[in-house]
Amino acid sequence: MRWWLSLGCLWSCFLLLLALISYHFYQSCDSPQTAQLWSTPANSHTQARDNLSDYWSSRSKLLTADQLLETGGTVVLHGAEQQVNDLLTVFKREEYKETPFEAGRHFMNAREDIEKSNVFELIRMMPKGSMLHIHDISMLSVEKLVSNVTYMDHLYLCNSTQSVGEPDVRLQFFATPDTTCDWLLLSDVRASLGAGPVDQWLIGQLSMIVERPDDVYEDLHSSWVAFDGVISRVRGMIHYEPAWRRVISLALQEMADDNIQYAEIRSSLPQLSDLSGNLYPASHTIDIYRAALLEAASGDQGNRFWGGRVILAMSRHVSPEQVSADVDRVLQLRSDQPDLVAGFDLVAEEDCGAPLKEFVPQLLRLAENGVQTFYHAGETCEHGLGIGKGWYLEKELLRLLLRWTGLQRMWVERRGFRQAGTAFEHLPSILSVT
Ligand SMILES: [Zn+2]
Repeated sequence: MRWWLSLGCLWSCFLLLLALISYHFYQSCDSPQTAQLWSTPANSHTQARDNLSDYWSSRSKLLTADQLLETGGTVVLHGAEQQVNDLLTVFKREEYKETPFEAGRHFMNAREDIEKSNVFELIRMMPKGSMLHIHDISMLSVEKLVSNVTYMDHLYLCNSTQSVGEPDVRLQFFATPDTTCDWLLLSDVRASLGAGPVDQWLIGQLSMIVERPDDVYEDLHSSWVAFDGVISRVRGMIHYEPAWRRVISLALQEMADDNIQYAEIRSSLPQLSDLSGNLYPASHTIDIYRAALLEAASGDQGNRFWGGRVILAMSRHVSPEQVSADVDRVLQLRSDQPDLVAGFDLVAEEDCGAPLKEFVPQLLRLAENGVQTFYHAGETCEHGLGIGKGWYLEKELLRLLLRWTGLQRMWVERRGFRQAGTAFEHLPSILSVT
């Protein structure tokens, strides 16, 4: 019995204790101090409102300051300009909603759809100013190259590998074809197989466009190999003087149609040939440029296209002695035709062959003689430092390490560029293709 009595007392004490705790907690919750925590007095509302107002004001100032730093950020639009901008904004917002988003696709897959888009069509009509980076060997659209230039008389086709290193498809103009290949007159091939299929095949041979570019072009080097093959086929065809003349003229016409006002065109200024293979003097090539630029600037499109200049662009995969000879050539050209020759560049795949620093003594002669230079450097790994060359693991490790300092180095370079009066051109869309 006493055991039961003791347990009953303990149970009663526990319940009493529980009741006391509950009462205390209830009282605490309702205490003035606690109540202050749960409720907001009138002056706190004001404070919060002020903080919120400050927040939105600061945010707005920050966004405005950021917009002013954008290209054209300080331009004030008036009347029709504002209407065009509003229209462009509507078109852009429509395209943002599309799936897939065109700008997010590989350029080769998206190109046709981009050209049909309202944004592209509107931008195409707008004045562009200057085209500062284009190469004559590839500046005419492949569609126009096939539909026009490959329909010129005396063009022959060879489709077989003759020797290692030779392209398997060759196009060349002849009076009488040589014996280096089994040449077929292209007009005969069209008559036999049909113009449509032949033209479609030619577009594939004279461009890098493929259905699955990510699979075909695995890396930068494989892109360059394909690119060099295409350029070799085009070069074999357009070094025929009438074909060259037509390519330059049609390409300038395309620029005028795209509302480009001025172009600086990179060219190796090759010696051109006639149907029998006789070479014209080198000066003839630049004479063609002068005539074509004058024609484009004075023709029907003259109010849109004003003119252009040539940048002598030679291969970087050569010896210092050859670079020295190329420098001599541009010095002479610049002296003879200062209004037409803008300066000098070295081109071709950047990570192959020697870095530009190997040619510093030769290239410094350009600056000493007041000739401007326009170097490509966008694809050079690790800024041409040649780190870990041939040692894959070391290269990858150092690349990872250097990424941490990449931004800092870029700013140091930019400061140097500014002090030297050097323009810095960045072309992200080109790198997205390669
Ligand atoms: Zn280029």
